[in-house]
Amino acid sequence: MRVVDGTVVQFHYVLKNGQGDVLDESGAQVFSYLHGHGNIVAGLERAMEGRAAGDRFDVEVAPRDGYGELDQGLIQRVPRTAFGGNEVDIGMRFTAESDRGRRVVTVTAVDTDSVTVDGNHPLAGQTLHFAVEVANVREATGNELAHGHVHDGDDHHH
Ligand code: ZN
Repeated sequence: MRVVDGTVVQFHYVLKNGQGDVLDESGAQVFSYLHGHGNIVAGLERAMEGRAAGDRFDVEVAPRDGYGELDQGLIQRVPRTAFGGNEVDIGMRFTAESDRGRRVVTVTAVDTDSVTVDGNHPLAGQTLHFAVEVANVREATGNELAHGHVHDGDDHHH
């Protein structure tokens, strides 16, 4: 069976950046998604179209088809006092309210008086290099199609 809209695809992958550093990988676990529902980055989903179990391929995904371009407007300096007496360290992530709604931000710098937070996805602005091996392709169940995502096992509740 080939990958078309409404199939569940299981695959292994290694994700590297342009410098060849491994950013993420499926490891021993196989990754599953429902094809055609935007559940994985657009550039990878497009490259999956028509593949079958056993296919191996490499795909390069530009930021606009990956996690987006880096948006300087999402990088903000806030007063240190906004954190009260709480400890703030680089790399801390939390949900913040902004004029563009709630989003997860990462602390990227801490000064005496100010803290810099970045609301971009950690992989925004990066060209993604995926090495993929398709493990299995099957038809999605009616429930999966109705929910727009994969159900693995039958103890799935919302
Ligand atoms: Zn569901």
